[in-house]
Amino acid sequence: MSLKPGQWIGGIRTVEDVRQRCFIDADGCWIWRGCSSGGAPSAKIGSRYWKVRRWACIQTRTKAGKPMPAGRWQTACACAKPQCVSPRCAMPLEPKAFAAWLRDAGFVNTPAHKAACAEAMRKIAPKLDARKAVECAARILAGETSAKVAASLGISQSYACKVANGGAWAPYTRSLRP
Ligand SMILES: [Zn+2]
Repeated sequence: MSLKPGQWIGGIRTVEDVRQRCFIDADGCWIWRGCSSGGAPSAKIGSRYWKVRRWACIQTRTKAGKPMPAGRWQTACACAKPQCVSPRCAMPLEPKAFAAWLRDAGFVNTPAHKAACAEAMRKIAPKLDARKAVECAARILAGETSAKVAASLGISQSYACKVANGGAWAPYTRSLRP
């Protein structure tokens, strides 16, 4: 192959491709320069969208012969930089430990960190079911503010908007949209 890593047609194939899409900071952390979804570095890798830190963590551990945890897990980063995707910083944690990590990692010191923590917690345990998703979309589409609807349903405003726009729970709310 004459193409250099990072130049593959179709984007990321290797962890090195991920590294090349980062700014390497003074700590050696890989600060992602690509897109984020809900604050987490995200990219299309292969045929689906991945959280980049999770993907790089899986690749690196698999290559090193280290098993991934069984069951659900989230990828924390030891450096507590939200945009760091370095496999060296990545720590796979089961959801409860991940929530504890969010609290312990200093994501609770400022209003912004509190908001980021709350957002991540909501993602771990989404509080919507189909009935509430329909209610959420219906109320916003009827003109209620997304902030008010989100607060009453215990979800983030951005997630409430996503539901209203059909970015989540779309099959349940399709009939509500014009
Ligand atoms: Zn890091």
